[in-house]
Amino acid sequence: MEGFHWRCSECGGVRSRDQGQAPCPDCLRQWEPGRPIRGILLGEFPWEEIRSRLDPRAPDLDLIRADDPACRPPYPLPETPLFPVPRLALELDLPGLLVKHDGLLPSGSLKDRASCAVVSEALRIGETTVVAASTGNAGSSLAAVCAAAGLRAVIYIPASAPKAKLVQARLHGADLHPVEGTYDDAFRLSIEHTRLHGGLNRNTAWHPMTIEGKKTVALEIFRQLGWQIPDWVVVPTGDGVILSGVYKGFLDMVRLGLARRLPRLLAVQAQASDAIHRFFRTGVYGDAETPATVADSISVRAPAAALLAVKALQESAGDAVVVSDEEILVAQQTMARLAGVFGEPAAAAGLAGLRAFRERLRGDERVVLLVTGHGLKDVDAALGGLHRGD
Ligand SMILES: [Zn+2]
Repeated sequence: MEGFHWRCSECGGVRSRDQGQAPCPDCLRQWEPGRPIRGILLGEFPWEEIRSRLDPRAPDLDLIRADDPACRPPYPLPETPLFPVPRLALELDLPGLLVKHDGLLPSGSLKDRASCAVVSEALRIGETTVVAASTGNAGSSLAAVCAAAGLRAVIYIPASAPKAKLVQARLHGADLHPVEGTYDDAFRLSIEHTRLHGGLNRNTAWHPMTIEGKKTVALEIFRQLGWQIPDWVVVPTGDGVILSGVYKGFLDMVRLGLARRLPRLLAVQAQASDAIHRFFRTGVYGDAETPATVADSISVRAPAAALLAVKALQESAGDAVVVSDEEILVAQQTMARLAGVFGEPAAAAGLAGLRAFRERLRGDERVVLLVTGHGLKDVDAALGGLHRGD
């Protein structure tokens, strides 16, 4: 699109579309591997021009999608359902509760949005290899999208990732590098890989198309609500990139004049993997030293998008909570039994957080609970939850 460019979320520097394959080089100088990324880029559109072309009664939100329509991979990215969950809403005494079920995307997680956006960028610039670090979902998603597009996927993933996610990635033909370590180790190794061997790096927040891809969930929510902004969006939070993407999507609506405010964002983290929560509460950043949690998808020591995530929480007048593994497994069963939704533990963390935060909400608020991944991706965790107390 004419007029599209990237802007650094820290220094405000502008980069051309083609310069947006990695963070802002000026800010990245202050970054060291194993720390939150510096200089994450955000997409900027020719707002005035798009505003003049928009029909405010039925705006075409494709006008603010960064992926080039001519380069989209042949991989379906259907709109996911946003639906009421009356029994769960009754239990929480929150009649305005809605679930947005991104576990229903083809590879079973919201990550398909980011994978498709990055792969479209690879196709646009003629890059044949895409490299990523993943706790499991991003990797399995990237493997699937690359298979459809005929690209090579190189994935660094903790060897301890749930079996189904490893099987997905291998089955789709990815070049898989199991890492005896954490997601943070996989992140560092994947960056080294692209430095040494080339390829486009899809790491979340590293490639700005991950945020542009993830923001589409916000555009969908806005459209599905009849062009209304919800009061709250509850986001399971690990490295902070889904949170940043949701924020960016709603921010774009404000910039277009379609919305007057952002929804308040509630970040939910696992107790052991709480770096963003602590950073938001105290203003002081520190790693989550031992981030092990049953919610593997949100287990991270140094969240890549910590700075941007905290900015998103501040600017949306949002909040953050932490939940225990026990609360997550209880929430997983509650969501399954009262809503018919089988979310993976990270997705269930959102419900656990909402429950913990419930007394801070008014009863008439419209709350969207984002289910980020399908429960079939980690059957062992659910089985462990069922066996508790046996
Ligand atoms: Zn910068």
